[in-house]
Amino acid sequence: MSFKNTFDKYDWDTLEKEIYSFTSIDVKAVLRKEKIDISDFKALISPAAKPFLEKMAQRSHALTKKRFGNTIQMYIPMYLSNECQNICTYCGFSMTNKIKRKTLSDTEILKEVAHIKKLGYDHILLVTGEANRTVGVSYLKNAIELIRSQFSNITIEVQPLHQNEYEELIEAGLYSVLVYQETYHKETYKIHHPKGKKSNFDYRLNTPDRLGRAGIHKIGVGALFGLEDWRVDSFYTALHLKYLQKTYWKTKYSISFPRLRPHQGEVEPKVEMTDSDLVQLICAYRLLDEDVELSMSTRENEVFRNNIIKLGITSISAESKTNPGGYAVEPQSLEQFEISDERSTKDIKEMIQNQGYEVVWKDWDRSYDLAK
Ligand code: SF4
Repeated sequence: MSFKNTFDKYDWDTLEKEIYSFTSIDVKAVLRKEKIDISDFKALISPAAKPFLEKMAQRSHALTKKRFGNTIQMYIPMYLSNECQNICTYCGFSMTNKIKRKTLSDTEILKEVAHIKKLGYDHILLVTGEANRTVGVSYLKNAIELIRSQFSNITIEVQPLHQNEYEELIEAGLYSVLVYQETYHKETYKIHHPKGKKSNFDYRLNTPDRLGRAGIHKIGVGALFGLEDWRVDSFYTALHLKYLQKTYWKTKYSISFPRLRPHQGEVEPKVEMTDSDLVQLICAYRLLDEDVELSMSTRENEVFRNNIIKLGITSISAESKTNPGGYAVEPQSLEQFEISDERSTKDIKEMIQNQGYEVVWKDWDRSYDLAK
């Protein structure tokens, strides 16, 4: 059994029609409920819910405050490599893009870490392209072991791995894995992932299952908005989340909301997702699930990120570089995508505090893990 069995029971076009056919009466009925289920979620992400955004935002704020308090968790990405054996139409690291490829050595990793530690971070997200020979399991394991004494929370966003490989990395100190399906529309997925291992839709779809079975602490799911209709993709993400929570109930979950950003070899978004759409979606996820962590990266601009703090977000990155060595080793190398909010960590910290929130640098320690 895997999520694929659940996924196969749904049809994209039927869901799309259903989501676009809700009325304001349906949305009002959903908002009167105390508990929102996956079916109600469809109404909350529908165009009919737009006039109820203020109400959804107030409820999302209250639920987030009840569960997470006035806190925002800070994390920072560190790109280890831009080598990639896949073609993804929307990514600057795509195999056919003629860019200088770089994979950080141990010395370079430690140089980057020294810079990041000075900024105050304790939660780090390690990112690589998908290049098995250069940045396979042994490279990742070495990187985790190299830095584990300096971070209490290490997350990776790398190629999907087998269950035993995840187990090896968890043993080495891995806390969490982000693996976004990009789009749950099979045909569109094929168009954007024509070559390389990533073209295997089902293998990617079942990656969170392998992570759950490996006993990972936290799994991050999501879709890349712009490839397909964001409403249907978000429904599938919510369905995925609910399946995972039920199946791997010891694991925590997070959702991210990446919208397509400019990059080398640009692809235009097929479907636009406006700021107000994104706010609607963030609130809808919070109403669906009080516990899920909602994460916001520097892909979004300054104004949007300032305004979203109180609406349901629980973690945020700052001062991010999306190129390997971007902090201290080789700041001029090519980025995976352009970031939008370029403010310093200090500025983001002040922005959060000015809104009455506490900045959290550390909320986990390996010594809490009784299984270790
Ligand atoms: S999105 Fe990931 S897998 Fe695709 S080209 Fe970029 S780095 Fe490679």
